Amino acid sequence: MTPVLAVREASRTYPGDVRALRDVSLSISDAEMLAIVGPSGSGKSTLLQLMGTLDRPTSGRIELRGHDVAKLSDRSLSALRSRWIGFVFQQFFLSDGVSAVDNVATGLLYAGVPRRLRRTRALAALERVGLGHRAGHFPGELSGGERQRVAIARAVVNRPAILLADEPTGNLDTTTGASILRLLGELSMDGTTIVIITHDREIAAGVPRRIELLDGTLRLDTGTPVGVGR
Ligand code: ADP
Repeated sequence: MTPVLAVREASRTYPGDVRALRDVSLSISDAEMLAIVGPSGSGKSTLLQLMGTLDRPTSGRIELRGHDVAKLSDRSLSALRSRWIGFVFQQFFLSDGVSAVDNVATGLLYAGVPRRLRRTRALAALERVGLGHRAGHFPGELSGGERQRVAIARAVVNRPAILLADEPTGNLDTTTGASILRLLGELSMDGTTIVIITHDREIAAGVPRRIELLDGTLRLDTGTPVGVGR
C-alpha cells in the first residue's frame, strides 16, 4: 500500500547556509508509531515541520499518500493539512479561559462542522483519551498529564491519519509521560500514524520504530516492524 507519509531525499537549508537536514528519506505506513531521536540541533524539529507540511524542503519531496505536497497551492495544502494531520506540542497550547471540551472543539473550527456537532465530537474525543469526566474543567483545574490529554483529544478530534507530537512528554514527570505514551500507542492501534520527537531514551525505547538523526542526517532507522501497514 502507498505509504501514508513519505520523505524523499529531503534537505532543508536555512539562510546562512545552515544545513539542518540532508538527504533524509523515510517511508511510513498506516498505524505505525515511530520516535525521532537525536541530540539538540540534529534536525528533529525541522524534519517534523516538513512532515507536517508546515515548511517545505529546499530539495527533495514530501508525499502524503503518494501525492507530492509541493504541487499544491498554499490554500489546498492547509485544507489537506487540517484534514490529515494533527499536532501535539510540549507546551499543550490550551486556552485558559475555555473548558476542556471547548478547547477540543476548536480542533473542528476549520473543518466545517456545525457548532452543536463540534461539541458532541469533542466530548467523544475526550472520552477517547480518558477525560470524559473532566469535560467542563478549565485547563487551570487540570494536571499536566490531563492537559496533554486534552491537547491530544484536540489533535485527533478530526480523525487525522497522522499525529505529529513534538516532545509530548517533555513537561511531564516520568509516570505521567509513560501514561501519555500508552495513550499514543492506543491511538496507533486504532489506526492513527504517530510520530513522536523525543530526547528521552526511555520513551524512545518504548516505541516500535526509531529514527536517529545526527547533524541533519539519518543515522538509523530500525524500520517498520513486521505485520504493520499491511
Ligand atoms: P532539533 O529539533 O533536533 O533540536 P532543529 O531542527 O531545531 O534541531 O535545528 C537543526 C539546525 O537548524 C540547528 O543547527 C538549528 O540551529 C538550525 N535552525 C533551526 N531552525 C532554524 C531557522 N529558522 N533558521 C536558521 N537556522 C535554524
